[in-house]
Amino acid sequence: MKRWRLATVWLSGCSGCHMSLLNLHEGLLEMLHTCDLVYSPLVDTKEFPEEVDITVVEGAVGTEADRELAILVRERSDIVISLGDCACSGNVSALRNPLHLPVVELPTKTRSETLPRLLPLALPLHQVIRVDGFITGCPPTPEAIKVGIIEHLAEITA
Ligand code: SF4
Repeated sequence: MKRWRLATVWLSGCSGCHMSLLNLHEGLLEMLHTCDLVYSPLVDTKEFPEEVDITVVEGAVGTEADRELAILVRERSDIVISLGDCACSGNVSALRNPLHLPVVELPTKTRSETLPRLLPLALPLHQVIRVDGFITGCPPTPEAIKVGIIEHLAEITA
């Protein structure tokens, strides 16, 4: 029996969607009977891998690093699902958009390679890459996450 390659990605979100995923408790363990979690904040993989069957993405696209990762996720995943209202519509992450905040250039002395460069607007995922499904909620309920993932896996098996 094929084991699915599942990934979860955390862009500009509060991590609440991943907390909700963890709140599946034994339901998460059940999913892992048929899936390998190949990339996630919950595991230690450093680089997004090739040939992922399904990726769920939390958070809006708010930084250049988010945009680069989103594009890589799309290239390497058969199915991409927006997880939670920030990924689906911008939600809390996009509250800064009406303020039109300038993208601040840090002085050389304080610039750090680890600081993400903000994009002018925080965008919902589907405005940056094609997505195949949406799991709404802030956060989505654990059950909604499980059903969303299982339904999309069923589509690729059919
Ligand atoms: Fe956090 Fe809600 Fe956004 Fe999920 S949808 S990342 S819980 S603010």
